[in-house]
Amino acid sequence: MKIGILTSGGDAPGMNAAIRAIVRSSNQLEWDTYGIFYGFHGLCEKDITGSLNNFKELHPRDVSQVLGRGGTFLKSARYPKFQCEDTRKTALQNLHALEIKCLVIIGGDGSFRGAQALYQTNLDYEILNDFRIVCVPATIDNDIPCTKYSIGADTALNTAMECIDKIRDTACSHKRVFLVQVMGRDCDYLPYMNGITSGAHIVLGSHDTADIRTISQSIIEGLSVGKDFVVIIIAEGLQKIKSGNSGEILNIRDEKYSQFTASEMVRRELISTLSEEFKDRIRPIVLGHIQRGGNPSVFDRVLATRFGVAAIKTLDLWDDQINKQPVMLALQNDGETNDKIVSLLLQQVLDKPTLTANRKYQFLNQLVIRGVQYTHAKWPEEL
Ligand code: ADP
Repeated sequence: MKIGILTSGGDAPGMNAAIRAIVRSSNQLEWDTYGIFYGFHGLCEKDITGSLNNFKELHPRDVSQVLGRGGTFLKSARYPKFQCEDTRKTALQNLHALEIKCLVIIGGDGSFRGAQALYQTNLDYEILNDFRIVCVPATIDNDIPCTKYSIGADTALNTAMECIDKIRDTACSHKRVFLVQVMGRDCDYLPYMNGITSGAHIVLGSHDTADIRTISQSIIEGLSVGKDFVVIIIAEGLQKIKSGNSGEILNIRDEKYSQFTASEMVRRELISTLSEEFKDRIRPIVLGHIQRGGNPSVFDRVLATRFGVAAIKTLDLWDDQINKQPVMLALQNDGETNDKIVSLLLQQVLDKPTLTANRKYQFLNQLVIRGVQYTHAKWPEEL
């Protein structure tokens, strides 16, 4: 059997470890494995010689020394043309030309929409009757429904934690207020988890309204009662700021603010309300792509290896009579203390809303970091 692997969308640390596990376990079954470079772009586009040079056969030795490397050696790409049916027909024809019947797609929810669209693409002739697609969740945002973790989220969290620890050292030395913007799209997993792991004073999630008056008050009170520093974590997806002066709600996704980052917008609003003594202390910082890079953590290496082996197991045990649709692998609780990898119909996952921050993480932030008083009645169901 011949299988193809591609990585698509945002890269995530641990993708290489997953590719390695797929190549090595596929080899155990004596299958041929093709790496498809540049995601869906590489699947569709031939080079100027008309050759499918983005398809390269991978042998077990080709994946030595990739386990601990961040990014993806198969490269990734954003390829909007994949939304067009004719482009996807080309993809299927290219796969057919190489007799590849199985595709493992490692990526985030956008890539999985592409996978589902590929499956639904109509060809005039039935070249891919028993075509199989397995999706492996990999995104630092950890926003894919039905799986507890996606490859890369743990590493990104650890990277941001290390950065914020360093920021705190310098913040402490000068009694500064750092506004740290972290990634995570519209899901607040990274901001809230980083709030807990870094002891941030305030976390502004993407669905929160940054109330400048309350934040200013909190900064003044914090520094006045002897705090040496203040770290405020801001989700890159923050949309709304309540102005400290006018009380007006600003939509910072509006075109007129497009040249400003979320942390810069919060800084601009804060300094318009704070006195000289405090406004000089405010420093915005965007962690940006640093969170995507770096060697994958222990957790991500193990998870990626589990997902990779599970992808081959799923393809091997696939029953064409029962299943024709693409599946996604997910890490779920097994009802006891362990977790297990399950295979779910991709469409069912895509039908669910993208994840937003779990209330328990917001609770931990508020209770532990800011010391907000809680009554028993307000305990969340699970901690
Ligand atoms: P991620 O997988 O990290 O969420 P993107 O959202 O950028 O990344 O999606 C990656 C790629 O998946 C896109 O560049 C495009 O090629 C493909 N894709 C996304 N959504 C669709 C869709 N609705 N139909 C077809 N292809 C899609």
